[in-house]
Amino acid sequence: MPLAREAVELLVQAARAWYFEGNQHGLRDREWMALRFLGRANRFSRTPSALAGFIGATRATASQIVKTLESKSFLVRKPSQEDKRSVVLHVTAQGEKCLSQHDPINHVVNAVAALGNDECVRLRDSLRDVLNHLDAAHQRLDASVCRDCMFLAERGPGTGKGRASAEFMCRLYRAPISLEETELLCTSFERTRDRPKIEEHLDRARMASQG
Ligand code: SF4
Repeated sequence: MPLAREAVELLVQAARAWYFEGNQHGLRDREWMALRFLGRANRFSRTPSALAGFIGATRATASQIVKTLESKSFLVRKPSQEDKRSVVLHVTAQGEKCLSQHDPINHVVNAVAALGNDECVRLRDSLRDVLNHLDAAHQRLDASVCRDCMFLAERGPGTGKGRASAEFMCRLYRAPISLEETELLCTSFERTRDRPKIEEHLDRARMASQG
């Protein structure tokens, strides 16, 4: 138990990088959290309501954050292609530049990357296990990537240039999912524990797209 406490206390210290008073480079910590999430979210989760759920804010607060990010030209709203009455939030090139240059978590990301690949994988898996445990206990809204989601299904192989985009289907949204999209965050994610077949298929598809 002392070891577990020591590890958690170190995590709390690390969290000072992303929870802070005032602002950094013109944005408060929750605005950074929103911009970071929208920069990594898939097309189903870049909505005001998914954003509110992810950052643990009311719709009104999330809407105010969206307005702030729009006023700085980091974000634009566009009508959803699936449902014209809904809007999808897009991070602009300026927003992406701001994230890559000034996101307060960048220092932590660099420090973790310096641990090396194997240690990064161990750390990621350990933190995921901890979060899974917390989610089960508190039934919090989760967000993760398609790769681990029970709704991801294989699709018949496509042809030529569009091959990677025809690999997968989301059975929840009944929509095709490209290989690149399987790495994006989704707030409709539902965990599944035993997906060896999809895991292997994703690895093969990823290697094919790289080589
Ligand atoms: S497969 Fe799961 S994580 Fe991916 S888009 Fe569908 S619901 Fe979201």
